[in-house]
Amino acid sequence: MTSHRPRHGRASTYKSGCRCTECREANRVYQAASNKRRAADPALADRAGHGRASTYINYACRCDACKAANSQRLREQRERRAIAKGAAS
Ligand SMILES: [Zn+2]
Ligand SMILES: [Zn+2]
Repeated sequence: MTSHRPRHGRASTYKSGCRCTECREANRVYQAASNKRRAADPALADRAGHGRASTYINYACRCDACKAANSQRLREQRERRAIAKGAAS
């Protein structure tokens, strides 16, 4: 009997740690499909909770609370980058 080998080109193989081109592509497709599925079902965003950047990104929720959380996140990211830049020069 041969020992089990990972099958490439699968999101599950990517999850178990493979980063070959085929598995990365399979994971990308899988993620895109699941993002779309989540975006199509607002109840999932409700369950994840509003006022969070992760809900804005992962569930494509565009309610005021999630939009505010996301723009806050972007602002913080910009500030962190500015600080890092200042420290480097
Ligand atoms: Zn692979
Ligand atoms: Zn929301």
